[in-house]
Amino acid sequence: MRKIVHVDADAFFASVELRDNPALRGQAVAVAYHGPRSVVTTATYEARQYGVRNALPLRTALARCPHLIVVEPRMDAYREASEIIQGVFREFTDLVEPLSLDEAYLDLTEPKQGPPSATRIAQEIRHLVPARTGGLTVSAGVSVNKMLPKLGSGMNKPDGLTVILPEKADALIAKLPVEDFFGIGPVTAARLQRMGVQTGADLRQLSLAELTTTFGVQGAHMYAIARGQDDRPVDPSDDRKSVGTEDT
Ligand SMILES: [Mg+2]
Repeated sequence: MRKIVHVDADAFFASVELRDNPALRGQAVAVAYHGPRSVVTTATYEARQYGVRNALPLRTALARCPHLIVVEPRMDAYREASEIIQGVFREFTDLVEPLSLDEAYLDLTEPKQGPPSATRIAQEIRHLVPARTGGLTVSAGVSVNKMLPKLGSGMNKPDGLTVILPEKADALIAKLPVEDFFGIGPVTAARLQRMGVQTGADLRQLSLAELTTTFGVQGAHMYAIARGQDDRPVDPSDDRKSVGTEDT
């Protein structure tokens, strides 16, 4: 069985800004470029209480939270913090697949060093990252493939750790809205919803034949993920184009 960890820094860009400017702490802050079509890249948890979210147009964010403090992104500072965080990951494994500056999958099936438990390594990473970055925190999910720890890391944010044992995965997936599955985009999700398929439990009611007839190859993928089956390897090659998606 594989041991895969998904690590995700908490409100990354905003947390770097708070670290470097303590006067911002405890305030509703959004990191965004100024401009008529600007969107929020990251918001502090205080700002999120007003409905300010990633990718929200800045104008809408300011309407929802008039006292929102808007800070221009400093990509160099984020890249620098990202390199330190990734350095921590690589102390434990070379199988690191970054998804963006602040998010990565780690395959810890055979770690280079540290305790022989992916959960304990994840805890060590969660202690090392703030110690080396001046207090930036990360959340982590631990499980046996890529889809499960990615769900886990989002479950106890900020500064959380969630272990998803394979026997607990079924119940979690059953409740998951179809639009939250990886590989199910908005168009497919809408189509499923029109068929009365809202959750993972609904998806599991459909046979492999029904799914492939309706959705082709993607149907087979949906059949697998509805059962928590995800064989994608952690891909450490760094020629991916998706890195830096938060640059928007
Ligand atoms: Mg993050």
